[in-house]
Amino acid sequence: MKNPNFENDIKTVTNALNNYLDVCANQKSSVIVQRPMSEILSNLNASDLIKKGNLKDGNLEQFLESYLSNSTKLHHKNYMGHQVSVPHPTGALGSYIDGFTNNAMAIYEMGPAATALEVFMINWMLEHIGWTPAPINEEYDANEYASGVMTHGGSLANLTALVTARSAKFPDIWENGTPANLVVLVPEQSHYSLKRTVGILGIGEKNCIKMPADDDGRVLPEEIPELINDLKSKGKDILAIVGNACGTAAGLYDPLDKIGDICAEHNIWFHVDAAHGAGAIVSEKYRHLVKGIRKADSIIWDAHKMFRTPVLCAALLVKKAIHLDGAFSQEASYLVHDKEQPGVDQMMRAVECTKSGLGLKMFMTIAAMGENGIYDYIESRTDLAIEASEYINSLDDFECPVTPETSILCFRIGNDNQRQLDIRKELLKTGEYYISTTEYKKARWLRCVLINPDTDMGVIKGLIEKVRQINAELG
Ligand SMILES: *Cc1c(COP(=O)(O)O)cnc(C)c1O
Repeated sequence: MKNPNFENDIKTVTNALNNYLDVCANQKSSVIVQRPMSEILSNLNASDLIKKGNLKDGNLEQFLESYLSNSTKLHHKNYMGHQVSVPHPTGALGSYIDGFTNNAMAIYEMGPAATALEVFMINWMLEHIGWTPAPINEEYDANEYASGVMTHGGSLANLTALVTARSAKFPDIWENGTPANLVVLVPEQSHYSLKRTVGILGIGEKNCIKMPADDDGRVLPEEIPELINDLKSKGKDILAIVGNACGTAAGLYDPLDKIGDICAEHNIWFHVDAAHGAGAIVSEKYRHLVKGIRKADSIIWDAHKMFRTPVLCAALLVKKAIHLDGAFSQEASYLVHDKEQPGVDQMMRAVECTKSGLGLKMFMTIAAMGENGIYDYIESRTDLAIEASEYINSLDDFECPVTPETSILCFRIGNDNQRQLDIRKELLKTGEYYISTTEYKKARWLRCVLINPDTDMGVIKGLIEKVRQINAELG
């Protein structure tokens, strides 16, 4: 039986979102406005609505108008703030369908279609890496095939990756606990989630050791063997070496090929953090940046960054399925493979028990754009970052610290660190542009993440002019 309330609500929501897209596309509102929370709540009429339970018709319409006007507008082409995708509308419908069906697929029976699409998207990623996915619905040797699991974000994927590395190295770890002499080697520019992971695993953050880097912060592979020997002579045992693809601050790729060779030679787990930079894996033009990525034992990949997928959607991918099957318990592989059912349970492979239909969201996004559509979008964002850096470096009063390798663009006016922070503060107050800042090479930079498909050189030039103007006004 049809539910007339629901049909009305759907129309109201659709109208509101269409209007939101129009507001963004035609810049009828600023990209960001931050009102005080109390003001927002009163504007939303939150206290009254929750008491009366009458969120429909005109109330729903008003509520949505207020909610959307107080939302940060990622679809506005001046949004360059953070590494969060501008979701493709069809991908966003994936979130809606997922919320509606609520097939929280910890086990296969709770979401056969959701599980099938998760496996399908995992395999899509594995094939782009150049690993062979385990066959679907057939017996296979888990030593011979690659596998993966989708997670609620890259931080959780990094944690799952190092849990997997730990179980692979110490099959009895769940019984006996973590040895006291473990260390993890990370790039100088690594994401904070890695340090946190090392802390969570009980290894101790001081045992999260930064590898020597060049002036731009890229790992210097030729110095790793000496570091390994030095640590070994001190009685340390290296759990894993991490490479960036790419770093968070400035978006540079580490020399994965060389790091991979060193890991293989020393029999050390090689983990690649491709949360932001996995786009290079699927791009013919930029694939050279991830040369050797196949040598990794594990890779993380965020779809909610450069793959136009709504949050949250990330994946941990492993070269050998057996490692992931055994990540959380020695016996897991039996449970996963011997259960008589036409699909797989994901709960044995993930920190999470209840999980969203992550594969659905990524699938609907890419299926709406087509593979060439997503490849072109990803390449265009790096192309734009490079073009923008050339333009900025041609100006007398601005500079970029490095030529971009992904969609991340850092720059500054003058060389006063505090001034960059002050400029961003003023810029956000105007709401005309939304950018972030970062510390990089011991200095403060303004930072753009070129993730919106509509951002172009016109936006960049407008931003530079605005920054120049604010800088002058600050005196
Ligand atoms: C964003 C990012 C992460 C964390 O991913 P979340 O999805 O935000 O949890 C990890 N590593 C790198 C390199 C990142 O850029």
